[in-house]
Amino acid sequence: MDFRKRYIVEPGSHVQLDRLDPNDTGSYASKEEAAKPLQACLCRMRELQYRMYAENKRSLLIVLQGRDAAGKDGTIRKVLSVMNPQGCTVTSFKVPSTLEASHDFLWRCHLVVPRRGNVAIFNRSHYEDVLVVRVHALVPHKVWSRRYDHINAFEELLYDNHTEILKFFLHIDRDEQLKRFKRRLDDPGKQWKISDADYSERPFWDDYTQAFEEALQRCSTKHAPWFVIPSNRKWFRNLAIARIIVDTLLDMNMQYPEPAVDLEEIRQKYHAAANASE
Ligand code: AMP
Ligand code: MG
Repeated sequence: MDFRKRYIVEPGSHVQLDRLDPNDTGSYASKEEAAKPLQACLCRMRELQYRMYAENKRSLLIVLQGRDAAGKDGTIRKVLSVMNPQGCTVTSFKVPSTLEASHDFLWRCHLVVPRRGNVAIFNRSHYEDVLVVRVHALVPHKVWSRRYDHINAFEELLYDNHTEILKFFLHIDRDEQLKRFKRRLDDPGKQWKISDADYSERPFWDDYTQAFEEALQRCSTKHAPWFVIPSNRKWFRNLAIARIIVDTLLDMNMQYPEPAVDLEEIRQKYHAAANASE
């Protein structure tokens, strides 16, 4: 199965989230069936990230968006944690600080985009500025409505600077969200995650749907595609995201740089004598 083809938001296409099944598990019937392919994929991801770091020419930006409890943190823990920390950064975007809020909305994101050879993971992102900001009218319509164009221009700039961009919308439904909130309530290790906002945002579900749909529609581009990942089943979400990242890294066809030294000369000069005396 070609995960990219199946879950990409084709640029210019119309998105209706309620027509996309959050329970979809593609051609996989169970977590057990997906376990081996996932492991294989994670190994591959680690190798390819190493190659990207070695090549030191290009970079990858991974954007995770989704409703509360959609699995953004879980994806980082279960999938993206295979990345070598030397060569990877994670940024979680919260309510803007005073400093952040006194700049344009892209400033805080631009500061943490991946440098050459690196992967950057955004847990939430510049898209919050057309999501929560739009739903709660934190700025006037005429301000947020211009941001889609700003975002596309920003992402194109990154792409032109050799950054591949993958954006994942983790798609869950209302019932699954409530179930996950309930589980948090009953798990002493997860209670810290519960916020008033989780519950107070639920009545805005449809407004968020609209905001997500518009962001997906207007900002899925050739250079920075959106993927809608069915995420009610965590194991499938993990596999789908891992596969899409690996397939993208494979296409990038990264190469180790040529050695900076003459290997033969070094062998002769420093190792020949040692070999002879062994
Ligand atoms: P969490 O991801 O659960 O730690 O929550 C972070 C919170 O910060 C969420 O409620 C987001 O909606 C909020 N947030 C992130 N970016 C922005 C933004 N640009 N403006 C307002 N709220 C934001
Ligand atoms: Mg939260």
